[in-house]
Amino acid sequence: MRPCFHPRLVNDHFGDPTLFIPFLYEKRALMFDLGDVCPLSSRDILKLTHIFVTHTHVDHFIGFDHVLRILLGREKSLHLFGPPGFLQNVEGKLAGYTWNLVENYSNEFSLNVTEINVDSMVRKVYRCRNRFEATGTEYKALFQRKLLEESSFSVHAVHLDHKIPCLGLSLKEHFHVNVLKDRLKGLNLPVGPWLKKFKDAIYNKENEETLFKVVWNEGSQKYKKEFLLGELKKKIVRITPGQKIVYITDIRYTPENVERVIDFARDADSLFIEASFLDAEQKTAYEKYHLTARQAGSLARQAGVKQFKLFHFSPRYTHNPELLYQEAEAAFSNP
Ligand SMILES: [Zn+2]
Ligand SMILES: [Zn+2]
Repeated sequence: MRPCFHPRLVNDHFGDPTLFIPFLYEKRALMFDLGDVCPLSSRDILKLTHIFVTHTHVDHFIGFDHVLRILLGREKSLHLFGPPGFLQNVEGKLAGYTWNLVENYSNEFSLNVTEINVDSMVRKVYRCRNRFEATGTEYKALFQRKLLEESSFSVHAVHLDHKIPCLGLSLKEHFHVNVLKDRLKGLNLPVGPWLKKFKDAIYNKENEETLFKVVWNEGSQKYKKEFLLGELKKKIVRITPGQKIVYITDIRYTPENVERVIDFARDADSLFIEASFLDAEQKTAYEKYHLTARQAGSLARQAGVKQFKLFHFSPRYTHNPELLYQEAEAAFSNP
């Protein structure tokens, strides 16, 4: 199976936490957290449509200015989600600059910002041409863990305790459409942009009796073949369960957090989880509202995840980061 999402941490395990999640066949990406994003190319930053921020400690939010600068003047709407107080945090950032020349920009750039409170979501839109002044509350809804729903995936959040509310995040692909390359060959069909349209039709559960046109070019020659959607699906596709990616960072190991994380990360294919300290420094970890590597490995095991990846190491382990991996691995494989 070839997953549609290929998440990668932007920085190494000592750097700011940020998970970049590009889509396989599209110039599009999501991101969990917004720490230092300088290692990302402008091309990658331009792919971003939605950024989900766990909390606004500086190591999780300092990348805001960098992203804003690259997107300014573009025809784009960037969606940002964050914890309670997020609208004020974003407004504070925007108020730090002077916006007297933006009215003449030919493109419409806007920030679509949603604050996730414990039981409600509030959204405001900040338009660049309007000097990023909010035009009032545009949306208010109940918060029931779901932040975003699209035809092929959804993003969920859970509130966790980091002395302040901190969001745990997950991305779930509804199901995965695998195109079987040898079957394509058998039908003399090339790979190409039509595959995305075809997959979208399946994700959108379009009527299988509708006619689907496969169109492609070879040199100056145009080709077209027609199939019933359901018939082509049967011939070239295998449907498998979609992947689940979970991102947990900056939490204290309390019974309530543990229960929530295990439930939220249940059976994930990939769990990205912080491991700031070794268990020998459990007391420090607790006082700083962070996890130890043993706690991270144990959470991964209890949630039954397939694999996990650690990040957010304290700089005190600069010379022996392998100890954190070993400790987490041991807790993951042996209760
Ligand atoms: Zn923090
Ligand atoms: Zn942090």
